[in-house]
Amino acid sequence: MTRGLNFSAGPSTLPEPALRQAQAELLDWRGTGASVAELSHRGAPFMALAAEIEADLRRLLDVPESHAVLFMQGGATLQQVLVPLNFAAPGQAAGYLVTGHWSKVAMKQARPYVDVREIASSEPGGFHGVPPRETWQVPADAAYVHVTGNETIHGVELPDVPDAGDIPVVMDVSSNIASRPMDFSRVGMAYAGAQKNLGPSGATVVIVHRDLLERAGQPRGDILVLKSHAAQGSMLNTPATFNWYLLGLCVRWMLDEGGTPEFARRNARKAALLYGAIDGSGGFYRNDVDAGVRSRMNVPFVLHDPGLDAAFLAESEALHMIGLKGHKAVGGMRASLYNAMPESGVQALVDFMRDFQARHG
Ligand SMILES: *Cc1c(COP(=O)(O)O)cnc(C)c1O
Repeated sequence: MTRGLNFSAGPSTLPEPALRQAQAELLDWRGTGASVAELSHRGAPFMALAAEIEADLRRLLDVPESHAVLFMQGGATLQQVLVPLNFAAPGQAAGYLVTGHWSKVAMKQARPYVDVREIASSEPGGFHGVPPRETWQVPADAAYVHVTGNETIHGVELPDVPDAGDIPVVMDVSSNIASRPMDFSRVGMAYAGAQKNLGPSGATVVIVHRDLLERAGQPRGDILVLKSHAAQGSMLNTPATFNWYLLGLCVRWMLDEGGTPEFARRNARKAALLYGAIDGSGGFYRNDVDAGVRSRMNVPFVLHDPGLDAAFLAESEALHMIGLKGHKAVGGMRASLYNAMPESGVQALVDFMRDFQARHG
């Protein structure tokens, strides 16, 4: 068996101990005589597991009691529809900060339901930075301000939860949740598809201030009401039990490794190693994102000669490096350095990049 070094943006690499545990107990989970995937979500064993996972995730992320934690399906994209439906009156203004591809998707998803206002955009500059806070035009009557904590495709990361005064901040943290300590007391809502840094696809984590759940929102069926999901312990309908379980194993692994302070240190070292190699290549490799907002999770880079892309990918794949091809929107390469990617993996990538340059430069 060869387990490769997986740099995919999502679904992405998972911690090997979590996968091994899932493998070991796949047929008989906790002495129930059944796989966790075969049991009722309403039964005592799964209900206990759900409570354990919520407690673990709250501990990992230091989520305050003011906020509910939901485990849902539908990915980050569904949340981009639920945000306007739950937090805004029909046609009410909502502010959107545009820092890359996923900010634009969030706006597009919200447009049928709210008066979408772009408060600032880095698109004219090619998504290389974050518009300075003092340039943001936030409508005074905005229902919320939406920001993307980490742009997975363009490789731009907000250093902090921005301040929007009395207007709640909604933050897409799909690709940087749990990568460093974050102050969730300062967000109205944060949401994340699990498949980047938390676990498998098919599970979505929502952290939402309980006050926001009291907003009337817009006419919608109960399955689209976040307050109902909270009231029913994220079991309004049949949840994705296996994905939830596997997410729980990944969260437990992160706690065992030292939690978000430890991952913040590891992720800073990994990012410094890779950006250092790119910047030190004399232009052979290039990343144009402003230094202060370069993503520690997703590092897009181009080769000075795109004619070398195919060779770069073929040679890296021969070394069992997976998923380095960049998103089509930006081209080139992208290395995703989520929590489950060890420092030795990034070192191997950097060694390969230097060797590749020596032979093709
Ligand atoms: C991947 C991603 C999404 C889309 O997530 P789905 O789970 O596929 O809906 C949205 N936002 C960001 C920042 C992402 O990285």
